[in-house]
Amino acid sequence: LGPTVAVGEILVEIVATTVGTGFTAPQPLMGPYPSGAPAIFIDQCGRIGGAAAMVGAVGDDDFGRMTLQRLRADGVDVSAVATVPDWPTGSAFVRYRDDGSRDFVFNIATSAAARFGWSDAAAQLMARAGHLHVMGSALSMPAAVEVIARAVDIVAARGGTLSLDPNLRKELALDAATEARFADLVTRADLLLPSGEELELAAGVRGEAAAVAALFARGVGEIVLKRGANGATAFLPDGSRVEAPAFAVTELDPTGAGDCFGGAYVACRRLGMPLETALAYASAAGARNVTVRGPMEGAGTRAQFDDFIRETQP
Ligand code: ADP
Repeated sequence: LGPTVAVGEILVEIVATTVGTGFTAPQPLMGPYPSGAPAIFIDQCGRIGGAAAMVGAVGDDDFGRMTLQRLRADGVDVSAVATVPDWPTGSAFVRYRDDGSRDFVFNIATSAAARFGWSDAAAQLMARAGHLHVMGSALSMPAAVEVIARAVDIVAARGGTLSLDPNLRKELALDAATEARFADLVTRADLLLPSGEELELAAGVRGEAAAVAALFARGVGEIVLKRGANGATAFLPDGSRVEAPAFAVTELDPTGAGDCFGGAYVACRRLGMPLETALAYASAAGARNVTVRGPMEGAGTRAQFDDFIRETQP
């Protein structure tokens, strides 16, 4: 029906190499790495061989040129990514706490990522899109909200499908309007890709089984719950579920695992693979990603995942 399209923030990520230090003192950093949850998702989608495209914006700077170059190299159509003058490419500084959790310092609101709007290029792309992927994190950005609202309607009207990754971050404010937008998208999602507590947050109901039932009652088509090092579970409206064990890897950098998992899963399903096969590739994509520093540096091809699956214990 047409490419998978992701809408939202394109960023670079700069990563602390020490744990627990915080950003309150100078320290060695690594990066910039291409990043932004929707960008990671669509990069993995393209790398695994699915038709992929992105709507977003970068600044007229090296960060923007680097991320565009990476997306293009991995097969992503960036014809609807604008280069915005006078605003820098968005950035995220990440550091890790001793307990493994992360803190971000974002520059998104005053970056190119918050300065794109509906364009002729976006209209042309959406007119041939087969699937739209939305990240909840984009819903708090006014520019992305308008583009997403239009894109959702256009893709639905042409019989395309919608996936939604709640991607809720405590640093990104969730006001009442954003919550309402999110709740509306949940009801329209053919596939929901929550991780951890996002399942219950999306459902507004406590307890895994109750949350899953509530979401299906609202019209969600399929739910794939990501459980980090504990794997993933696909839930279907007929009450069945498929477990995908995690692969045993040593985690170096968890950022981007869920986005790579989602990109691989959606691409594989859209390539016509059975649910179990798509889940295996998605689990490989998530696991491989955490072994590499940088949010999309672990994104892989199908051949790389075939090797990874052969060589890695579940
Ligand atoms: P998110 O980044 O959205 O919070 P998760 O951390 O749950 O998502 O990661 C997505 C998927 O990646 C998991 O369901 C799992 O398949 C894989 N994964 C993540 N972390 C690990 C890990 N430490 N070991 C093995 N697989 C992992």
